[in-house]
Amino acid sequence: MTEAAVRSGPLDADLVEELSGIVGGAHVSLDRPTLDAASRDCTENPEGHAQAVVSPGTEAEVAALVAWANERGVPVTPVVANQNLGGLAIPTFGGIVCDLRRLNRIVASDAEAGVVVVEPGVTFGDLATHMERHLPDRTYSWSFSPPHTSVLANALLDGLGTLSNRYGPQGLWINGLEVVLADGTIARTGAWAVSPVPFGRAPLPDLTGLFVNLQGTTGIVAKAALQLAPRLPLSTRRVVLASDLESAFALMRVLGGCTTFDDAASMTWPVAKLMFGATGELVRQSGEPEAMVVVDMSANIEVELKAKLAVLDHFRAEVLAAGHHLEPPFDMEQLVRFVPRYEPLARMPTTLEFLLDHPGGGLTWVGTYGPTHWWEEGGRAGCRILEDAGFPPIVVTRPMANGHFGVLRFICLFDRDDPDDVARVRRTMRATAEAMLDIGFIPYKTPAYAVDLIRERADAGFLTLLDRVKHALDPAGILNPGRWGFAPPAGGDT
Ligand SMILES: Cc1cc2nc3c(=O)[nH]c(=O)nc-3n(C[C@H](O)[C@H](O)[C@H](O)COP(=O)(O)OP(=O)(O)OC[C@H]3O[C@@H](n4cnc5c(N)ncnc54)[C@H](O)[C@@H]3O)c2cc1C
Repeated sequence: MTEAAVRSGPLDADLVEELSGIVGGAHVSLDRPTLDAASRDCTENPEGHAQAVVSPGTEAEVAALVAWANERGVPVTPVVANQNLGGLAIPTFGGIVCDLRRLNRIVASDAEAGVVVVEPGVTFGDLATHMERHLPDRTYSWSFSPPHTSVLANALLDGLGTLSNRYGPQGLWINGLEVVLADGTIARTGAWAVSPVPFGRAPLPDLTGLFVNLQGTTGIVAKAALQLAPRLPLSTRRVVLASDLESAFALMRVLGGCTTFDDAASMTWPVAKLMFGATGELVRQSGEPEAMVVVDMSANIEVELKAKLAVLDHFRAEVLAAGHHLEPPFDMEQLVRFVPRYEPLARMPTTLEFLLDHPGGGLTWVGTYGPTHWWEEGGRAGCRILEDAGFPPIVVTRPMANGHFGVLRFICLFDRDDPDDVARVRRTMRATAEAMLDIGFIPYKTPAYAVDLIRERADAGFLTLLDRVKHALDPAGILNPGRWGFAPPAGGDT
């Protein structure tokens, strides 16, 4: 990738006119503050070069825009809230940022099939409101991402939510997609390609995966059919304090694998302090727990819920007997009554203000998926790297797919406008990703620097196949270039 391939100047007037002809002049933004905002995000990833922000209002406009860009070799980067925390919607090589927030319809909602069809601009907040009104017997796997972020983008990124332990990561919740391909063709995947009801990905060839975890590099998804889970009438959230990470991991491993619980997630001590409003240097006092495990369970009837609470007690006792240290479980609602500041942990979707609203505004992470039996090694290695660099050890862990694998995520808050702090966080994130890959964890929502590390280690055939798929679906290389190491379009005149 050469420097010359970056487009950074103003778009030619005739191109602006053509774009206005597609989406309407009011939906093409060229002003400097808008372009600057679209060229960066809250992470340490290098800024890009948005030349125009274009906001289509229909799928037909998305198709016309992409076909237009394909003919002219102009990069197109799709984006909704730009809160992916991996620099994944930064227009590294310039071109058009395609803001999809105007495509915000819930197109279909089928309580019987347990499916909802959403456009990219539908947010977690929108979905929660819709389900409360129209689908009271269904639920979704809620992410901790802010309510204004995209449900569809989260699913395409294989995100994680409150039902990921029971049903797996969000990519698996996709029953089918309606995708705008690079030449403007619109294609459906999943059973939806044949049946009017997008009931699943089986039994057709599974083409949905061509767009999952590809970060918008193979097509722009205009609609996603997403599974909804049954919502049981009773539910509760319990909290168990663990004196050390190892005790938390041991508990989560058994809870993840025993098929009783919806979710078990752990957070380390700095989260508790930050939620409490602590600022400045965070210090763990002696005797304070290292981690907090949050356990979700739901049930049809009281006796079932009581039995699940008994299962939690049983496994906690088993983990204690193995020499670990765990406090007795307590009810999250009770905690919130005593300490209202913990309220954001009691409801979903939620806003974790302490991550988003702090001096400097920078937020980033290395989030990985990997085997849960390596949590201890990975958790300690990541904490060491964070602490050596002067960051509090914020670690979030969760079993996925009944404990088949797990999440291990290291979070850093920093000052985005301080070059020294940005350099420090870049070194730390890279070192963390490298250490995790060496142990066997793989960074998800993969930032460009981690893609380089993955490409160094990946199976050669996998890389050949990946590059062939990209070339087949986007031969001109216009779709979100720079992600997954894909080159930008050659030439082109903007
Ligand atoms: C405080 C905080 C907490 C978070 N917690 C979680 C969590 O618990 N679990 C979790 O999974 N995530 C979490 N996230 C990450 C992230 O917010 C979510 O994944 C979110 O849903 C992404 O939505 P977005 O609108 O920000 O996507 P964007 O950042 O706008 O887009 C994400 C990616 O998808 C591509 N894209 C966007 N739309 C399309 C489309 N229509 N077709 C093809 N490609 C497209 C973009 O180019 C980009 O590569 C968190 C983020 C924050 C800030």
